[in-house]
Amino acid sequence: MRIKVLGSAAGGGFPQWNCNCPNCSAIRTGVFKGPPRSQAQVAISPKPSTWFLLNASPDLRLQLNSDPELQPSSGSADSPISTILLTSADVDCVMGLLHLREFHPLHIFSTPAVRRILTEENSIFRVLLRSNPPVRWENFLLDHLTSVLPPSAPGAKDGLFCKAVPLLGNFPDFVGDALRQSLSPEEAVVGLEFIHKEKRLLYAPSLPGVGDSWHRALEESDLALLDGTFWDDDELVAAGRSHKSARKMGHLPLCGAHGLLRQPFHIGKTKTRKVLIHFNNTNPVLNEDSPEHLAVREAGFEIAYDGMELEL
Ligand SMILES: [Zn+2]
Repeated sequence: MRIKVLGSAAGGGFPQWNCNCPNCSAIRTGVFKGPPRSQAQVAISPKPSTWFLLNASPDLRLQLNSDPELQPSSGSADSPISTILLTSADVDCVMGLLHLREFHPLHIFSTPAVRRILTEENSIFRVLLRSNPPVRWENFLLDHLTSVLPPSAPGAKDGLFCKAVPLLGNFPDFVGDALRQSLSPEEAVVGLEFIHKEKRLLYAPSLPGVGDSWHRALEESDLALLDGTFWDDDELVAAGRSHKSARKMGHLPLCGAHGLLRQPFHIGKTKTRKVLIHFNNTNPVLNEDSPEHLAVREAGFEIAYDGMELEL
């Protein structure tokens, strides 16, 4: 399976339009050691000319337009993309659905709660119903395998299966109280565990770090794309950008005694390749000359960048 990182930043991208933190300021003036980044977007391909989008970023139109493999190649409407799998209803994860609305029949997988947030409370997403056939929603049943691409023959291993792993995060702030009270909290944020040809990929760009289901999913995986949003728990508070800690925002920070880098992973039969993604623009890891960047590499993690390609 091929995996493309089309975008590697958290919401706002890097640099962020209204931010003048040391990172954003330095990259604008051309003195930053590291590339700019668009908002997190991953595409996976289990077979040629077939791509699945993991979430739909606010930068999706530009991301698709900059990669010929993701564009129509013959005929008038033969996009290699028809399926999107969502990890949450966060703006960063769903806004790109509106870029895909051009009367293209779409197939969207999400938890029932995420689907209800988008279809019952946010009427703008009804624009997806205009295609013929209209958007087709499919529910993830938590911790159950869902067939995303059937195998080519009975018993063949070339299908694509996905398991939604509940990560116990929060629903976005914009969800109204009445709807929120009727939703199952386990369906707010999920990690996506893919199985293809007996290899496993875990995608968890938001990792609240609560409970142990994500440890299990990580240990099972051959490759994991994990939440690299914040270095410090109080990163946004120190930058004067929020009163919320990283953990309160649903992101396990990288540093600290209980941060992601120090988690006591039990390595299973295969050593998991761990790649961080979804970096906030304030994260010092983005600076390739920083001690934090070095610390991440020394802890055995790779750092995703726009245009990174991975193979599984
Ligand atoms: Zn910034």
